[in-house]
Amino acid sequence: MPAAAAAAEPTTEHAAAEPQDFAEKLEAIPFDDSRVVKYPDPVLRQVAVEIAPARLVGLQPLIDEMGEIMQSAHGVGLAAPQVGQSIRLFVYDVGDGIQTLVNPVLLKKKGEQIEPEEGCLSIPGLRGVVKRASEITVKALDRTGRPTRFRAFDFEARVIQHELDHLNGVLFIDHADPATLHMVGDGDDERDDAAPAE
Ligand SMILES: [Zn+2]
Repeated sequence: MPAAAAAAEPTTEHAAAEPQDFAEKLEAIPFDDSRVVKYPDPVLRQVAVEIAPARLVGLQPLIDEMGEIMQSAHGVGLAAPQVGQSIRLFVYDVGDGIQTLVNPVLLKKKGEQIEPEEGCLSIPGLRGVVKRASEITVKALDRTGRPTRFRAFDFEARVIQHELDHLNGVLFIDHADPATLHMVGDGDDERDDAAPAE
């Protein structure tokens, strides 16, 4: 099954999934937060490194800034590589406040979901359908270094999987059904911002 194959897939580059013809279009899409690293910056393709818990004290300002950037960009998630830091940390907010996961590990995944379409703050304007597990079990540290383990479902599970991919140098365009990839937004249509980006 495709889902099982995707789960076992190594997190290497998928050059074939980066259609050349998007590059020109992407440049034409305005995006107002220069603090977010944009595709095809190489940092987005690096496998991020684990964070020693002792480093977390010094990372609090970065975590705060990432939350602020995510909110100002109306995003639902933001991973450290997206602000140029190749470390295993991301923030997300699916309506319950900003959550921070450090050194997250996906322990289990099951089920399947295909909606809503995904977007990425690092690839402004592009949307596509990505098949994701609908239920996951994750372990991580919180921003204070305390271990946490929990299950997430549906949209939260989608966001976490998207952000976890960022820590492995994987982008949603690698998983998206190529036939569904499309550009939205010319800067004039408010509806284009309705679909959340991560
Ligand atoms: Zn993203």
